[in-house]
Amino acid sequence: MFIEAEVDAVLLDMDGTLLDLHYDNHFWLEFIPQQYALKHQLSIEQAKHHVYAQCNKVMGSISWYCYDYWSDTLGLDIHALQHKTKHKIQLRSDTLWFLDKLKQANIPTYILTNAHRSGVALKMQQTELTPYFNKIISSHDYQIAKENLRFWSAVKEEIGVDFSRCLFIDDSEKILKVAENAGVGFLRGIATPDSEKPAQEMQAFKSIKYFSELF
Ligand SMILES: [Mg+2]
Repeated sequence: MFIEAEVDAVLLDMDGTLLDLHYDNHFWLEFIPQQYALKHQLSIEQAKHHVYAQCNKVMGSISWYCYDYWSDTLGLDIHALQHKTKHKIQLRSDTLWFLDKLKQANIPTYILTNAHRSGVALKMQQTELTPYFNKIISSHDYQIAKENLRFWSAVKEEIGVDFSRCLFIDDSEKILKVAENAGVGFLRGIATPDSEKPAQEMQAFKSIKYFSELF
């Protein structure tokens, strides 16, 4: 794949692709169970057991990504709590280099994220990435997660690109498969979404550690 010659637009996941997934993993797997334990007078282990069980019920659906759903389900104000750990929101190592490169090449660039609008706003405020994108699309705008083909039809309608000439990068192999089914021509995974975890393997897609591997 030669980006400048073959790609009309670049579609990018946000968490784990542009941003270090460590923030989200820490927030949902550690910080939220701690807050739940405090509120309901439970041990951390009990709170984790409860929170993780609730997560498993809705994994991959729009609710799983929805701050309002979690605020109701856990009785915690997720919108407010996300600010308490915002210092952990970080770019992946060569995100800025990559976005500058796309800008120089005049390639339209979009974020396609399952993150709730409230999370997108905080992350863009912390990282100042907004000017790099033609549009930032959250699956909450359509109430259909990226795991669903209907999300991709809605995106196609909204931005009017030929998917066969698009590059999509995401750290989720499951979502890459759906994008492939939707007709996206070039697909890459992220091998190291969380800077504090070992690299992940993908079965069906090439995965990169650094965006420079694309050029
Ligand atoms: Mg992701």
